[in-house]
Amino acid sequence: MRGPADNPADNHSERLRLSLNPFFGEADPIGSMTSAPPTHRLPDGPMPPSTAYQLVHDELMLDGNSRLNLATFVTTWMERQAGVLMAECRDKNMIDKDEYPRTAELERRCVTMLADLWNAPDPSAAVGCSTTGSSEACMLAGLALKRRWTTKNRDRYPGSARPNLVMGVNVQVCWEKFCNFWEVEARLVPMEGDRFHLDPQAAADLCDENTIGVVAVLGSTFDGSYEPVAELCATLDALQERRGWDIPVHVDGASGAMVAPFLDEDLVWDFRLPRVSSINTSGHKYGLVYPGVGWALWRTSAELPEELVFRVNYLGGEMPTFALNFSRPGAQVVAQYYTFLRLGRDGYRAVQQTARDVARGLADEIGAMDDFRLLTHGNELPVFAFTTAPHVKNFDVFDVSRRLREHGWLMPAYTFPANREDLSVLRVVCRNGFSADLAAMLLADLRLLLPELRRQPHPLDRDKSRATAFHH
Ligand SMILES: *Cc1c(COP(=O)(O)O)cnc(C)c1O
Repeated sequence: MRGPADNPADNHSERLRLSLNPFFGEADPIGSMTSAPPTHRLPDGPMPPSTAYQLVHDELMLDGNSRLNLATFVTTWMERQAGVLMAECRDKNMIDKDEYPRTAELERRCVTMLADLWNAPDPSAAVGCSTTGSSEACMLAGLALKRRWTTKNRDRYPGSARPNLVMGVNVQVCWEKFCNFWEVEARLVPMEGDRFHLDPQAAADLCDENTIGVVAVLGSTFDGSYEPVAELCATLDALQERRGWDIPVHVDGASGAMVAPFLDEDLVWDFRLPRVSSINTSGHKYGLVYPGVGWALWRTSAELPEELVFRVNYLGGEMPTFALNFSRPGAQVVAQYYTFLRLGRDGYRAVQQTARDVARGLADEIGAMDDFRLLTHGNELPVFAFTTAPHVKNFDVFDVSRRLREHGWLMPAYTFPANREDLSVLRVVCRNGFSADLAAMLLADLRLLLPELRRQPHPLDRDKSRATAFHH
C-alpha cells in the first residue's frame, strides 16, 4: 500500500497541508510534533485529544458564518439552555423507548401539541412521529399515501397501473426523491406567468384514478408563498363529485406549518380541512431547533396503514414506530419539547412576527430601489424573492449574489423551473437571529455595491446553469 506522501508529485501538496502548529505541543516528544496526520486514511496511531481537537477546530474556521447565511431555512441560533439540554441528551437513542421512556414521552407530547396546533379532530389520539427532518417525514407521508392507494386498488395492482403523485414544479427536492425511490410517477404542475406555485385546477386536471395524493406546500421554497390549500381541497371535492376519485392531500408545511398557526390564524390550511390527511414540518426550521428534527402527523390512525407501523419494546410492552432510521439522536426531540415549553403560542408568535417584520422591512427597502423588482414581499413565510428590474442590463442576480458574498453574505441566486426558466431571482430567508440590525447592514452593503454593479459593462457570470448556494 502506498500513502500519498510516497508519491513525489504529492509531496508539495502534502507539505502545504502541514497544519500542525508546534505550539499544540502534546504530540510525540521525539520530534514528529510537526508531521501532519493523513486526512484520507486512518492515522496509524492515536494523538492527544487536545491536538486532534485543535486540528479539527482550525479546519472548521473556514466554514461560513451561519448567521450571515440568508440561504438556509434551518435554525442557526438557540439559547444556551437549549444547548445544555442537548448536550445532556447526546447519548440518548430515540429508538430505545424502553431505556429512555421519558424521552419517548416528550416525543409523544410534541406530537400531541402539534396535532392540537394543526387542529386535528382528536389531538389526544394523534398519530405521528419525529423524524430527522421534513425529508424523512415526507417519505413517510408519501409511503402512507401510496400504501393506502395500493390497498384500495388491490384487485388491480400490480398490473399496468402506475401510481402517481401530483404537485407543483416548485416542490422541494425531497418529493422528487420520494417518487424516484418508491417508483411513483411525479406529475408536476408547471409555473405559469406570475404564478410561481401550484394552481388547484391545473393540479386536479393532472389527477386520475392512479393518483395517490396531491402535495400542497405551505411555504414554497422558491419564493416563500403559501399554496392555496383550501382551494385545492375544494377543487378535489368537486373532482370527487364528478369522477368519484377520493384523492387525499398532504401538506408539506416544512416551514409554514410553524408560521401560519401563529401569524395567520384565519388561514385554513390544516386538519380543519377534511381532505388534508397528513402534515409535515421541520422542527429545525421555524420550529426553532438546531438541525436534526422533523415531524409527520396523520389526521387519524385510519390515514396511516397499520402494516407500515413497527413495534419496539417499551416498558415491557410494545410501542408503535414509523421511521426510516432505527437509531437516531434524542437530543433534538428534547430540544423541541424545551422550545415548545419555553415559548408557548405567544412566544412563537412573537418570534415569527419579528422574522416577518424583518423580511417585510427588507423587502420594502429593496423593492423601493430602482434596480430591483420584488416577486414576493415576505408576508407569508418570512422569505422573499426579487430580481433585477427590466431596464437593468449591466448586471444580473448572479452578480449581486457573488458580490454580496465578498461581504460575507450568502444570498443565493437561481433560475426558476418550467415554464419560467427565463426568470432568475435572489431569495432571502429571514430567520430568528437575523435581526433588524443585520438586515440594515445587509442593505448598506447592497447599496455600497450598486454603483459598481451599474458600472459593469454587462453581467459577468455568463454561466447561468449553476445556481449559487441554493438550498431548496
Ligand atoms: C426544507 C424543506 C423540505 C426538506 O426538509 P428537511 O427538513 O431539510 O429535510 C421539504 N419541503 C419543504 C417545503 C422544505 O422547505
